[in-house]
Parts: sequence; C-alpha cells; structure tokens
Amino acid sequence: MAGKLIGIDLGTTNSCVCVMEGGDARIIPNREGSRTTPSVVAFTDKGDVLVGHIAKRQAVTNPTRTLFAVKRLIGQRFAAPRVQEALNRLPFPVVSAPNGDAWLRVGERDYAPPEVSAIVLRTLKQAAEAFLHEEVTDAVITVPAYFDDAQRQATKDAGKIAGLNIQRIINEPTAAALAYGFNKGGMRQLLGIYDFGGGTFDFTLMEMNDGVFEVLATSGDTFLGGEDFDLTIQDYLVKHFKEKVGVDPSGDRMALQRLKEASEKAKCELSTLDKVDIRLPFLAQGPSGPLHLEATLTRGELEEMVRGLVERTLGPIRDSLEHAGKKPSDIDEIILVGGQTRMPLVQQRVKDFFGKEPNRSINPDEVVATGASIQGAVLKGDIKDLVLLDVTPLSIGIETQGGGFVKIIPRNATIPCRDSRTFTTVTDNQARVEIHVLQGERELAEFNKSLGRFDLVNLPPLPKGVPQIEVAFEIDSNGIVRVSAKDLMTGQEQGMQIRPTSGLSELEIQRMIREALANADQDKSKRDSLKYLASAEGLIYSCDKSFTECGKYLTEEQQTFVRDVLGRARQAVAAQDSEVVRGIEGQLLEAQNLLTDAVLAASEAMMASLEGKDDENAN
Ligand code: AMP
Repeated sequence: MAGKLIGIDLGTTNSCVCVMEGGDARIIPNREGSRTTPSVVAFTDKGDVLVGHIAKRQAVTNPTRTLFAVKRLIGQRFAAPRVQEALNRLPFPVVSAPNGDAWLRVGERDYAPPEVSAIVLRTLKQAAEAFLHEEVTDAVITVPAYFDDAQRQATKDAGKIAGLNIQRIINEPTAAALAYGFNKGGMRQLLGIYDFGGGTFDFTLMEMNDGVFEVLATSGDTFLGGEDFDLTIQDYLVKHFKEKVGVDPSGDRMALQRLKEASEKAKCELSTLDKVDIRLPFLAQGPSGPLHLEATLTRGELEEMVRGLVERTLGPIRDSLEHAGKKPSDIDEIILVGGQTRMPLVQQRVKDFFGKEPNRSINPDEVVATGASIQGAVLKGDIKDLVLLDVTPLSIGIETQGGGFVKIIPRNATIPCRDSRTFTTVTDNQARVEIHVLQGERELAEFNKSLGRFDLVNLPPLPKGVPQIEVAFEIDSNGIVRVSAKDLMTGQEQGMQIRPTSGLSELEIQRMIREALANADQDKSKRDSLKYLASAEGLIYSCDKSFTECGKYLTEEQQTFVRDVLGRARQAVAAQDSEVVRGIEGQLLEAQNLLTDAVLAASEAMMASLEGKDDENAN
C-alpha cells in the first residue's frame, strides 16, 4: 500500500473523511471548508452534478432530482417491505432494477445506489487529494454494524466506482470505539457504543483491553434514524396545516421538501431551545390566494411525538447485552455516536437505561471517520499495538428442504470465520446440487435475505449418497461472505455456478467506472472553465474601474474600442461562455494595456496639477 490511506464515514446524512498524519488523526475539510459533507447528490437541468452543501441547498427547487438518504437503499431489494415503506416518503422515484434491486430514477436515467454513493465518495477523495497534495486511492470505509452482505458488497462497489481501493470495511461503532480507545494505553474497559445517525441505529458492546478491541455483540436497526424524527415532525406539520387551512400540502413535492427541511431544522434547534416557531410562507395555494404555515413546537411536544422512536433503540441494546451475558451496569463507558444523539431526550434515555452519564468527549460527527483512519494506519503497519476483533451481525445459513433455514455461522461470531458442511446427492447419477445461501435469524428461509444460489455442477455419475462435497462458508474481515466447494473424494476444487440474488455485476461496475471517469473529465474541464471565467471577470472589473476613472485620457477611437471589448466580454461571462471569452482574450489584454497607459497619464496629470498648485503656493 503506497501513499496515504483515508478513513471514510459514508453516512446516510453526512459523510466525513480523515487521515492519520504523524500519529494524529486529521479531519479533511471539503472544498467549502466544512469538516462534513452532506451525502446529497443533485442532477441539474443543465446536466451538472452537484454534491454536498451545494446540492442540499438547491433541493427545494429541484426535489425530484436531488438524491439523499441513498444509504437506506444501498444493497436493498425493491420489494423489501422496508424499502416500500421508505418509497412513499422520498421525493424522487425509486424503481426496480432488472435484477430486482432498488435503483433511483433521475429523468430518463436509472442509477444504482452504489453509483450515487460513488459520486459522494469521489468528492471526498478529491477533497483528500487537494488537502494532501497527492493522489489518494486507498481507503477504509465504514458501514453500520448491522449491514448485511449485500449492503457491504454494494458499499464496496461504490468505492470501486469512485476509483478507490477499499482496503477494509469496518463497522461504524467499532470505528468509534477505536477512536475513543486509541492512545488510552492498557486500560481495560467494557464499552457500549450507541450509534444513532440519520438513517440507522446500532448498538455494539466491545471490550477494550491493552490494545485489543474485541466486539462482543452487535445489534441494530437499519431503518431507524434521525430522518424518522424529521418525518414525524413533518406529519405533524401537515396535519396542523390541514386542520388550520383545509388544504393538504403533501401532494406537492416541493412543499414536502420544504416541510422536511423545516422539520429537521426545528428538531435540531429543539436540542438547545425549549420552543421554536416554524414559518413557511406560500406553502400552498388556496381558493383565495397563497397559504402560509405558521406553527410552534415545544421540546416537550417533540419529545412526546418521538418517544416511541427513542424506545425502539432499547430493543437492540437489550439484545446485545443478553447475547454477551452482560447487565447495563457492567458497562464502563457509553459512547454516543451520530448526530441524533445530540437530542437531550436520547441522552436522557441512555442515561436512565445504563444508570450513568454517557461519554460525550468526542465529536459524534467525526469519531467514525477518525476510527476508520486509525484502522487504516493499522493496516498500513503504521500502528502496531492495536488489534481489532469484530463480529458478524447476522447468521449465515442455507435453505433446507421444505423451506427451513439452518444456520452455519451464527451471528456475533468473530470474523474472519469459516465453517463447512458436506453435501451429497439424493438420486443416482445426479450431476448438480443447488445450495441457497441466506443471511438472517428467522427459522424460515423466505423471511431471511437471500445472498445467492450456488450450484455444484458436473458431479461425477455415482450412486446417490456417494459424492462427498465439502462446501466452505467464510466471512472475511469486511463481513463479506464467500462460498467455495471441494470434492472430498478427489480433494479437488468442485466447480460451482454462482447466481447472486442482488448487486452489480463486474460488467456493470466497469461501465459505471468508465462513466464516472468521463464525468470526472467533464467536471474538471468545467471547473477549469469556471476558474477561467472568474479570472476574466476580475480583469473586466478592474478595466471597468480604470475606464470610469481614467477613460477620458484615451482617444475617442480607443474609448470606443475599450467599451466594445468590455461589453462583449461582460456578456460572455454572464452567459458563462468561456469559448467566447477565450476568443476575445487578446483584445481584452489590449484594452487593459490602453487603460494602464490611461491610468499613468491620469496620474501624471494629477502630479502636474499638484506641482502647479505647489508653485502657486510658493509664489
Ligand atoms: P449522522 O448520520 O451521524 O450525520 O446524523 C445525522 C442526523 O443527526 C440527522 O438526522 C440530523 O438531523 C441529526 N442531528 C444533527 N444535529 C442534531 C441536533 N443538534 N439535534 C438533533 N438531531 C441532530
């Protein structure tokens, strides 16, 4: 691994990138100077792709082409009930891809969620390159602990499309614990990491002992996050508006987007204020003119509305504690991660549950990226005395006859891990055996997530029950599943056809990489041309100023020439037409030379008049 390695927290709402330099973790600011970047991508009518704050700012006027919370859809099947639930809430269309995955539709074009996440990742990569003055390709990226194989694989694909070598995928709470425990020496502690972000909730129990970080249990909900709080407030505002003015604003996507933004703003403000006023002028059109929304919300009212959401976080916590055989009072430190933990009700509930104040010493928005960069330094060999032992969040198993599910690797097993089963045939001369691999905890296969079908093929023609094929199931350090098979009679690898249930094919990934690169070239030439226009604008401004002040020192003919050139240049800059500006660049410079002479002539005249006055005074 040559060069720098960056740690990336690819969040539902915001993303953050960090690098280890000289033993310190440094958060990398984006082009606008912010330490986090909204995970928002917008496609404008003009064909531009906007990312981050700039994309978020224009969401109200471009709701159907501004993509956010894409992490909720990554690695998900379109038909999954939770995706269906989220659909009604999203202002942009979500469609079923040919393989049944959830994709996003922008105008005529469908985007795979990893493709959209790749746009955010590329922006972070560019920010890192600008900051470090070198090309960056290696990265450690984080995912919610509860992400399944398809979601991890899709995140890895996003990295690949963005031109990154994802060296490791680590769980967000694990990254947070690394950031917390890094440099804490030989301290032995049991940590509870409560991670409540924009789109997901995770709880992880981890033991930290002399540089060894061992995850004991992890549990969570990939469909519970800060956005659910926003939507609860949004529903309340819609109801309030309907009751007051009798018009339902929820059919208008732009109105919904404004309501959503106002809801999130109110939620965040109520973390420090007791009461907020929410005003949205011209929210809808009534029979007798425009209708405005005016409402007040108190912290108490908000807490009543969202108490159920906060309570839902306790389920995974209890589950993890039970799994690890621990009590709430056994936990030495509770570390809060994710923006939603800024809400006082969340902090209070955590405190009540564990009977102690949660630790708030680290910035919840930056801690995950920091941990990812620490893990990166471990992988590069820059940090030597730190070992990370993580677990798999979900059991891996296979479908049995009659639709049952038998677990092969149980959840919370330390990764990497491996187990195997021996398969045989049930009829004479059977040439093929199908193995359906799934992930989940339910007894029936149909309720678990299908990872793929693996067909053992070209089996030798033997009586039933004689072939002995050992199938190994492995979960690597990224939490990604691999399956391989061996014929025990010959000791040779057994041929297998893999039919993944979801995800992108290598061909699709390659196409997306090509398109991303083409766009990056376009982006670069666009950036260059914007820079060029900005410098031309500066030149026009200074020429304008000189012309106003000293134009009279030019001949009539020269004045006409300068006026004409400046007029044309101004028009071209306003139309953002760098080609036209380039075409008259020579004339523009000529005008500048004339004006420089005019300024000189003006100052000479001024000096002469001052000298004249001095002479008069002297006389
Ligand atoms: P993350 O995914 O960690 O960036 O968390 C983002 C979530 O935290 C979003 O739903 C934000 O609305 C929420 N959030 C950020 N700041 C606050 C705050 N001061 N109070 C309540 N929620 C917040």
